[in-house]
Amino acid sequence: MAKQMLFVYNPRAGKAQIRSNLLDIIDTFVKAGYEVTAYPTQAAGDAVKAVRERRDGYEIVVCSGGDGTLDEVVSGMMKSKERLPVGYVPAGSTNDFANSLGIPKNMLQAADVVVNGRTFACDVGRFNHNTFIYVAAFGIFTDVSYGTPQDTKNVLGHAAYLIEGVKRLPSVRSCPLKITCKESVIEGEFLYGMITNSHSVGGFRGITGQNVALDDGLFEVTLIRKPSNPLEINNIIRALVDKRVKSEHIYTFTTEKLKVESEEPVAWTLDGEFGGEHLTVEIESWHQALEIRVPKEAEG
Ligand SMILES: [Mg+2]
Repeated sequence: MAKQMLFVYNPRAGKAQIRSNLLDIIDTFVKAGYEVTAYPTQAAGDAVKAVRERRDGYEIVVCSGGDGTLDEVVSGMMKSKERLPVGYVPAGSTNDFANSLGIPKNMLQAADVVVNGRTFACDVGRFNHNTFIYVAAFGIFTDVSYGTPQDTKNVLGHAAYLIEGVKRLPSVRSCPLKITCKESVIEGEFLYGMITNSHSVGGFRGITGQNVALDDGLFEVTLIRKPSNPLEINNIIRALVDKRVKSEHIYTFTTEKLKVESEEPVAWTLDGEFGGEHLTVEIESWHQALEIRVPKEAEG
């Protein structure tokens, strides 16, 4: 009997990129011995449901779309009673997580990785009762990151992107936060925070930290305090652009678990999608909780 595959795809992701590739992708899966059930998502939240409520008998769930679709499929899988391996054929404009895993941008090559690659046990982030696969963030740079077209980012580079964020400083509302982890307690007003398990965020490789591993049970945390004058703004920009420059406004550390508390609700993004407003957020790494298909040669 053929192996069963559930293939969940977002037909609109990345300028409907899948339209011209769908037949060849499914053909790749069938040639590798799978019987494929294809499910085009109809609305936000659909992929979570499709994965969570799938019938028994599947051996693998493959998804195609942007990081948001992957986030939904991983969320659905984490809520399932049986966790299956996940394959990913990226189709969005910014695919931070696919980059981190070494999954090819080319959709047919990525489909080949699903059937001929190896399985990698990846950490998953728990965010209260929700899930994220590579980034939970709040504050000023989140909307810049997702609102800036990839082409513009490539042309202007990282510095311009940060400056774009800092330009918005006068209109930024920040509120007092308390961040607690095993290693320390940090209090103050913050412009931005990101908790990541990824080599790149918002299309920028290397901004999350050094020695990043996706299966070490640790997040990289970056927090930026609110500056109070133009000199401090300059200092933050210099420290972001040139990592050798130290700034007392920027905290970077690794941890397996942390809690963020505030007096007013803070809006978060999870894997680039709106993650709700929260007064208290508890974030924890589920160590190697998800099996994902990666290229044979990828370090992971
Ligand atoms: Mg890690």
